[in-house]
Amino acid sequence: MTQNQLQFQPGLSLSSFLNDYGTEVQCETALEKSRWPKGYICPACKSRSHCIVWHGKVKTFQCNLCHAQVTLTSGTIFHATKLSLVKWFQAMYFMTQTKNNIYALELKRLIGVCYHTSWRVKHTLAQVMSEREETTILSGRVEVDDASFHKKFTAAF
Ligand SMILES: [Zn+2]
Repeated sequence: MTQNQLQFQPGLSLSSFLNDYGTEVQCETALEKSRWPKGYICPACKSRSHCIVWHGKVKTFQCNLCHAQVTLTSGTIFHATKLSLVKWFQAMYFMTQTKNNIYALELKRLIGVCYHTSWRVKHTLAQVMSEREETTILSGRVEVDDASFHKKFTAAF
């Protein structure tokens, strides 16, 4: 009997996910690498020369040329939310691990937030996933991967 390749595609186990994205620092590092794979680029003048400025606990990238300041989350769906990146990543993980729709109530229990937060996170992520799929379809690329955590949310970063 042949295996359906879609059903048996490699996924990201919960233990692997927790190993790779279990801490805020790991999530920040992943987000930074995803946003600027070749290192920070100033969105205003495209310079790579920068320094790090701390505003309390908030890490800010400051351009050495134009002095524009950008936080890691600015311009992303994570910006100006009080929810930690760890919780956002957990929500992304659980939403990509099932073919079926996950209920906000279920997500609330899984990531340990209130229902209102869970509902907002779920709908924000669903919107990103939907836009990502529309872009993929419009660009003519066909991706059959629904289980991949990384592919789903690169648009969010
Ligand atoms: Zn600049």
